[in-house]
Amino acid sequence: MKEELKLLVALQEIDSIILRKRLELKKAPEEIKRYQGPLSESEKAYKREKEKYEAVEKKKKQKELEVKEVDDRIEKLKSRMSDIKTNKEYQARLKEIEVIERERSRLEDEILYMMEELDEVSAGLKEAERLIGDEKKRLQSLQKELDVKSGLIEKELAELKDQRETLVIEISAGLYTRYMDVFQKSSGLSVVEAKDERCLGCYMSIPPQIYVEIKTSDEIMQCPQCGRFLYRKEATEEAQDSGSRNTD
Ligand SMILES: [Zn+2]
Repeated sequence: MKEELKLLVALQEIDSIILRKRLELKKAPEEIKRYQGPLSESEKAYKREKEKYEAVEKKKKQKELEVKEVDDRIEKLKSRMSDIKTNKEYQARLKEIEVIERERSRLEDEILYMMEELDEVSAGLKEAERLIGDEKKRLQSLQKELDVKSGLIEKELAELKDQRETLVIEISAGLYTRYMDVFQKSSGLSVVEAKDERCLGCYMSIPPQIYVEIKTSDEIMQCPQCGRFLYRKEATEEAQDSGSRNTD
C-alpha cells in the first residue's frame, strides 16, 4: 500500500475511535434522563397524596368546629332547663337536645372516617417518600459512575487527539483537506476498503479499471459514487483476516 494511503487508513482508524468515544460521552446525560423519569413520577405521586392529605385534614377541622358549635348549643339548652315551667315544655326541650345529640354523633362518625382516611393517605405519603429517597440514591450513584466513566473517556480522547496530531503532520496539507472534506460529507467515514469490486462505504460496485488502479496507480483513488478514499488489503492481509475469522 502507498505510504500516504497507509497514513490515511491510520487516521481514519483514530477518527472512528474518536467518534465512537464522543458518542459514548453523549449517552451519559440520556442515561441520567432515563433514571429521572421514575423519580419525577414518584415526586408527582407524593404531591398528589400530600394535597389529598391536606384536603381531608381541612374537612376534618371543619367538622370538629361543627362539633364544638353543637356542644355549645347543647350546653346552652341544658343550662336553661331550670327556666322551664311545664312538663310539656320539658319534654319538648329533651326532644330538641336529643336531635342535636344525634347530629353530634353523626359528625363524630364522619370525623372518625376522616381519621381513617388520613391514616391511609399518610401511609401512601411515607411510601412515596421512601421511593423518592431510593430513586435519588440510585440517581446519585449512577451519576458518580458516569462521571468516572466520562473522565476516563475524556482522558482517552486527549490521548487520541495527540496521536492524531502526530499523524496529521506526516500527511500533505492538500490530501488532509480532501480527507476532511470527505469526512464531513460522509458522516465520519472517509477511508474504506474496496473488496470484490465494491466500495465498502456505499456498497456500490467499482468499475474494474478503477478497482485495479487502487493497487497500481500512484494516485490515491476515490469511490466514483461516494467519494471515499479506497484501499485494498494485500493478499497476505486478506488471508490473515479470513484465517482469524475461521478461528473465531
Ligand atoms: Zn463508495
